[in-house]
Amino acid sequence: MEKGKPIYVPIKIHNYGKQVLGEGKLRGGVTLSKTDGQWYATLAVEIEKKKPIADLSHMVGVDLGIKNIFTASTGQFFGQFSNPLKKLLEQSEVKRRRKQKLNACLKKKGKPEVDLSSPKIIATVRNEIGRAANQLVNTLEKDSLVVLEKLNIKGMKFKSKRMNRILKASKIGLALDKLKEKLDYKHIRYAMVPAAYSSQECSECGYVHKKNRPTPEKFKCGYCGPKENADVNAGKVLIKRFGDAELLNVGHFRFVKTILLERFDKLFPDARSISGGLQPGTEPIRTVLREIGWQQLTVNQST
Ligand SMILES: [Zn+2]
Repeated sequence: MEKGKPIYVPIKIHNYGKQVLGEGKLRGGVTLSKTDGQWYATLAVEIEKKKPIADLSHMVGVDLGIKNIFTASTGQFFGQFSNPLKKLLEQSEVKRRRKQKLNACLKKKGKPEVDLSSPKIIATVRNEIGRAANQLVNTLEKDSLVVLEKLNIKGMKFKSKRMNRILKASKIGLALDKLKEKLDYKHIRYAMVPAAYSSQECSECGYVHKKNRPTPEKFKCGYCGPKENADVNAGKVLIKRFGDAELLNVGHFRFVKTILLERFDKLFPDARSISGGLQPGTEPIRTVLREIGWQQLTVNQST
């Protein structure tokens, strides 16, 4: 090779490669490498991501879950775990128990234990996540703004131990990353908001109580009455939290509840006198503060 004298090499590009080249600008040099007697060229393409300015009337809140991977505030559900997957989960549970017994034996004999993870399930769940993310993204407008939860995996707990294990094994947190990836690819904007208590907050009046959610599917506000679906309600709560600087800057997730209760009391001062069942407003803010402890409170204020 000589400096300043280019060498032209003909290359074959597969269809996907052609498509990507058509979308962006070729960047930098080309790397040539030889594998099994074949030469390969690696090209880097820069795709400009120009996202249109979002129309705030096109906000869609998305709640993450196990029963429905994504629930949109529009009332649409994406990625319901199919029956074959449920069957697979049942089978893996049987296998898991068997492996645990085997491991107990192996441990006694001082032999290495077998792996409890099930790659087939993880792959199936990931597939389902990808499919659900695609379906959701396809329902959006170009100028939509998707409001997502800043996911706190530790906070995502289910009543059944089995569901918790599946949640952990399938890495549902990946669903959020997958969705962001698809949104980026489609040039659709998204924002992250704090998710604390979004499953217990009423999207209409703002009343927060764990009894607002008597079952995983139902949402019945103790102050203003039942809502269509718990996850749809949660999606709407996320929309409400967009641009809420006060919630964004809280040091401890428990303060979110304090702030929400204070706001509710200000909006509906009469709620304190309402009796019957839940008694909104009777959970004093001071109790919440005591639960955190004064030490923590001081730390949070000074940092
Ligand atoms: Zn309400």
